[in-house]
Amino acid sequence: MTITPAQRISIMRTWQRVCKDRGWKSSDRDLRLQTFGELIGRAIASTDDVGRIDECTKLMKGLTAMLGVSLQAAREADDTSINQGRVLRHQIAGELIPCLELYIQDVPSYITTIIEDKSRWWKLDRPARSMTILDLSAAPIFRTVNGEAREFPSPLKQLQFTLAARLNSLRKAAGHSIHDMKIKASVPCGCSACVSARNLAEVPQPF
Ligand SMILES: [Zn+2]
Repeated sequence: MTITPAQRISIMRTWQRVCKDRGWKSSDRDLRLQTFGELIGRAIASTDDVGRIDECTKLMKGLTAMLGVSLQAAREADDTSINQGRVLRHQIAGELIPCLELYIQDVPSYITTIIEDKSRWWKLDRPARSMTILDLSAAPIFRTVNGEAREFPSPLKQLQFTLAARLNSLRKAAGHSIHDMKIKASVPCGCSACVSARNLAEVPQPF
């Protein structure tokens, strides 16, 4: 089953609204194919390549989500990455940020600077206020490299990599072991001494 002319028109109308919304040129063919490809998860050479009905549905949901008209559409488009996003944000907020605070004065600004330096795409998309980890998607990025669609880590995952690497350098420069850092930051430590201490504490003690 292929998509109908009416569906095709509806896709193009929604695309024009997205472009208007974001100040993009709707006549920019490369941008359109790139965006459509990212939304359906494979590279396309022309809009006519979006032939399958499931891809058409995915594309419409993605475009609607970009418009932000329907929260439900945004949720569904993001469905598979919601859980991963939660885990990553939890790790960044609960573990990386408390540790970074040992070495950096203003961690929120530090993170905002990293996010905003990262890519043109995010800059185009960025809200008027400063960006935070809540603005980053956990959905993988699809880009066409030498005619092939390739999957890249999500913006949130990339931020996690960057923060972990920076934290590691800061920790070493301060002469702290991982254990020192985690204890100072009051986050759970996974070193063998701490793990055995925790296991011991869980053994019921006689009164
Ligand atoms: Zn430890």
